[in-house]
Amino acid sequence: MENLLKRKKISETPFRKEVLAIFSKYNNAIPLSVIEDELPEYNRITLYRTIKIFKEKGIIHEIALSGNESNYALCQDNCDTETHHHQHIHFKCKNCNKIFCVEMDKFPTIKLPHYKIEQLEIQATGLCENCNI
Ligand SMILES: [Zn+2]
Ligand SMILES: [Zn+2]
Ligand SMILES: [Zn+2]
Repeated sequence: MENLLKRKKISETPFRKEVLAIFSKYNNAIPLSVIEDELPEYNRITLYRTIKIFKEKGIIHEIALSGNESNYALCQDNCDTETHHHQHIHFKCKNCNKIFCVEMDKFPTIKLPHYKIEQLEIQATGLCENCNI
């Protein structure tokens, strides 16, 4: 995790490392409020800036599902400063409201010739393995 910041050419600050460590603790996407709860102390502006730079550098991505506050999850290695390359969908559990990134074997191809698709959001809802009992 630590050299992730170096690899993405972001200067390492104790705070950035702290925020990154929180992301790696969860296997689901988390909203800002969870990050805030995990931080012993923080400055809101610094936190927003950190989230922004993580997003821009391809460390995390934002998931804005309708009816939810924005959630954030770690990216795969192939995301970079310019673009996010995700081959996954987002699953939302309707019981615990957690959002998970789910890899797909085969990502659908969209048949829209001459269109430039900049963002594709596929979401699934249901019950996660903890709630589906
Ligand atoms: Zn990404
Ligand atoms: Zn659940
Ligand atoms: Zn995701």
